[in-house]
Amino acid sequence: MSTDEEEHMSGDAFEGALDGNVLGGPLGEAFGVELTASRVSCAACTRVAVVADLVVYDAGPGLVGRCRGCGEVMLRMARLRGEMVLDLRGTSLLRIAV
Ligand SMILES: [Zn+2]
Repeated sequence: MSTDEEEHMSGDAFEGALDGNVLGGPLGEAFGVELTASRVSCAACTRVAVVADLVVYDAGPGLVGRCRGCGEVMLRMARLRGEMVLDLRGTSLLRIAV
């Protein structure tokens, strides 16, 4: 590993990532409510955060939301053939204000 890479890794571990606010649009479309302020619990480390606090990557098809605490995937979302497909297996709890 070069010194440049080490410096890169010692910096912001989530450099280049978006924040959970970009999930607000598509989640709002799917659920019909604003979810960025909703609390979610990480299934891997039990950390509780609001959706807006997730670390989001949009490099693949759809969006991937990771835990800011442990980096595990909490949420995957993709729009496929007229459906919003959500994989929430990394989220143990999703609390929606009603
Ligand atoms: Zn976590």
